[in-house]
Amino acid sequence: MRHEIPGVLYRIAPISPPIPLVLDSPHSGTHYPADFRHAAPLALVRRAEDSHIDDIFGAAPELGATLIAAHFPRAYLDPNRALSDIDPSLLDEPWPEPLAPGEKTKSGIGLIWRVAAPGVPMYDRKLSIAETRSRIDRYWRPYHAEIEAAIERAYGAHGAVWHINCHSMKSVGDGRGKEKGRRRADFVLGDRDGTTCDRGFTDFVAERLRAKGYGVAVNDPYKGVELVRLHGRPNERRHSLQIEINRGLYMDEDTAERSANYGRLRFDVSELLREVAEWVRGQV
Ligand SMILES: [Zn+2]
Repeated sequence: MRHEIPGVLYRIAPISPPIPLVLDSPHSGTHYPADFRHAAPLALVRRAEDSHIDDIFGAAPELGATLIAAHFPRAYLDPNRALSDIDPSLLDEPWPEPLAPGEKTKSGIGLIWRVAAPGVPMYDRKLSIAETRSRIDRYWRPYHAEIEAAIERAYGAHGAVWHINCHSMKSVGDGRGKEKGRRRADFVLGDRDGTTCDRGFTDFVAERLRAKGYGVAVNDPYKGVELVRLHGRPNERRHSLQIEINRGLYMDEDTAERSANYGRLRFDVSELLREVAEWVRGQV
């Protein structure tokens, strides 16, 4: 059963006996709100999207899991950032509450992106407080509420829950330092250095991917950000793992079109989900 909040998100409920597994795809949205009014070229802004990721993990509901995906684009508002992670230089007046901009925000990719790419400003204007609040209230809050509700439903029914936060990454690093120009692994798993899920779960996912022939890195260069931080409390049997898939495996990185390998990658991810579902059933 598909539940829609138009322009904001969709949720697909389990279509086989439910298991406590919740997936979310925060960055695959492609519905650009009319009030975005970015100055950077759309083609560049769209490179922030984790294109097709919700479809790649789309087998989840058949396996008893819940799948939630954002419709709004990440460059407009990133649900994988904390609400205090705002760059004050974006705003036309001071934010009325305390801010705590993190490292990513300082490089322009916080809750609201200041740049479309390194050196390319997203806007030719300052954003008002009202406009910023409206993005938070209309998109960030409902997205978080939907995930929290799904996780609490699963946890309430089973006394444990596994959350997978699904992403993609550019095949080659464009950041600074050692990341620049470095070819990334096929998959990067992030559990914030073992703090957001049982190490056994991370190891299981890594091992199943390696068995399918993929290269897997853990917490390098991505450890996971706000969504896994919020929901991962392994001592309460709440496990949250971030998965990043290398875009070079399944799409043309200039056009975002699916490549010839798309079907194979989607099949392998579906197999992984089937194995994860079995693992989760074995734990509860
Ligand atoms: Zn992402």
